[in-house]
Amino acid sequence: MTTKETINVVWLKRDLRLHDNEAITNALKSNKRVLVLYVFEHILLNDSHYSERHFNFIKESIRDINIELEAHNTKVLSVTSDIANAFNSIQEAYKINTVYSHVETGLLVTYNRDKEFTRYCRNNFINWEENKNNGVERGLVNRDNWFENWEDYMCQDLEIFQPSDNQFLNLEEIKSLEGFLSVTDLTTPVDTSFQKGGSTTGWKYANSFFEHRHKDYMFNISKPENSRTSCSRISPYIAWGNLSIRQVFQIGKDVKEKSKDKRHIAAFLSRLRWQAHFIQKFEMEHTMEHASVNKGYHKLKKSISKNYQKAWKEGQSGFPLVDASMRCLIETGYVNFRMRAMLASFFTHILWQPWQAATTHLSQQFLDFEPGIHFPQLQMQAGETGINNLRIYNPTTNGLNHDPEAIFIRKWVPELAHLDTPFVHEPYLMTEMEQTFYGLKLGQDYPLPIVDIKENRKRASDILWNLKKDPEVKKESFRILKRHTIADRNRMLRNE
Ligand SMILES: Cc1cc2nc3c(=O)[nH]c(=O)nc-3n(C[C@H](O)[C@H](O)[C@H](O)COP(=O)(O)OP(=O)(O)OC[C@H]3O[C@@H](n4cnc5c(N)ncnc54)[C@H](O)[C@@H]3O)c2cc1C
Repeated sequence: MTTKETINVVWLKRDLRLHDNEAITNALKSNKRVLVLYVFEHILLNDSHYSERHFNFIKESIRDINIELEAHNTKVLSVTSDIANAFNSIQEAYKINTVYSHVETGLLVTYNRDKEFTRYCRNNFINWEENKNNGVERGLVNRDNWFENWEDYMCQDLEIFQPSDNQFLNLEEIKSLEGFLSVTDLTTPVDTSFQKGGSTTGWKYANSFFEHRHKDYMFNISKPENSRTSCSRISPYIAWGNLSIRQVFQIGKDVKEKSKDKRHIAAFLSRLRWQAHFIQKFEMEHTMEHASVNKGYHKLKKSISKNYQKAWKEGQSGFPLVDASMRCLIETGYVNFRMRAMLASFFTHILWQPWQAATTHLSQQFLDFEPGIHFPQLQMQAGETGINNLRIYNPTTNGLNHDPEAIFIRKWVPELAHLDTPFVHEPYLMTEMEQTFYGLKLGQDYPLPIVDIKENRKRASDILWNLKKDPEVKKESFRILKRHTIADRNRMLRNE
């Protein structure tokens, strides 16, 4: 009987890159040969938060990694499986000494899978070494020194990808492993409007932002059309780990030093801190996936309207900026922060629907779906944290302020493209006669508003302001502040 070779495995998750990837450098430092693995797990393929656009982005990211790995005569073993099955199959041919991966702040399904994998490793005498991801820490009880630790981490040297000869399992060996497993086809559709995955493309976005696109960053950040080129657009590359925050942060700091547009880059850098701040909050409050972090809001009961929800999801609410944003999001996987906040606010305040009913639709559409930002942001926008200001967005005012020529609206709601202002922002103001002049019949060519916005804004505002005074909401707010407030909060929030 031949003895099996002992190898180490890098289990890629949301760190789909070779450079500045601690799991990979740690594995390469070991004295064993290394296999790089990605598993398209059934638990995620079947999870309602995910959609095809995410898996295509992952496939593109792996293809990009594989191009660089060609020089090392290897590639990522990409399979569709459950984690235990994937590792069992690898163990048919090899003995695994250590698995390297990052700590995943994810959905409950991945947290439970990690617990099972810990048991699996114990039963199979495998070590599992997990590294910190983007400065987020496991096991914290408060945020003492959190900001300083995050900054220290961001200023550390980058992990260099420098394998020596034959450190990886070669293509032949991976091919024979594929015989035991269900190999994932990595081809993806080319004719979509989504950003394409992979570090190579990610760096094109980051570099062009640092070179010239940042110049009007803060002026355009809330504008639905101009933000598409003025903002960095690196969020999917960060969410799936094509770029590490540390790589981007270090370049950003250098650019800021030399730049005439310091405040724009400073504002961008502060958002990189928010990224970790939100994920850290989710890491420490994982029940946020299903329930408001402030337990005082659990008593808030909203009646469900399937019709309202359907109209919102399909961009048929009768409010042009809401519909334009939703249709654009569905088609391209991206809208800027303000439009996301407005979509969430419209759903939870104006339509008075529970934020939980918006989560999967939005996460399926956001190409950059990141659980650690998604759930805390939704609750914040719904006004259910007790510690943030209540903001009920008025879609018409936002349209007039941030899309005054209605360029964005006309593009995404073509049935309104020929209307003049103010009708393109408020088509429901048109009289019967005006509808005839413009050749647009409300309720037929474009929906009438599905709700009375003025009345509904007032209802939401009254109820939520009153709830803020509720003793349980106050007690919970105090608890949340104590657990999550950063000592140097002002510095973190400032654009520096
Ligand atoms: C309801 C709602 C859900 C959201 N869900 C996600 C999500 O799933 N994934 C996600 O990456 N962002 C999410 N955001 C935050 C924000 O809208 C996006 O990060 C941003 O629009 C991405 O565009 P950009 O890369 O051009 O950002 P830039 O403005 O160029 O910012 C650079 C990076 O900073 C981070 N960032 C920016 N704004 C925020 C913010 N408000 N909170 C935390 N991090 C931020 C992102 O990683 C972003 O890529 C959500 C916001 C809302 C209101």
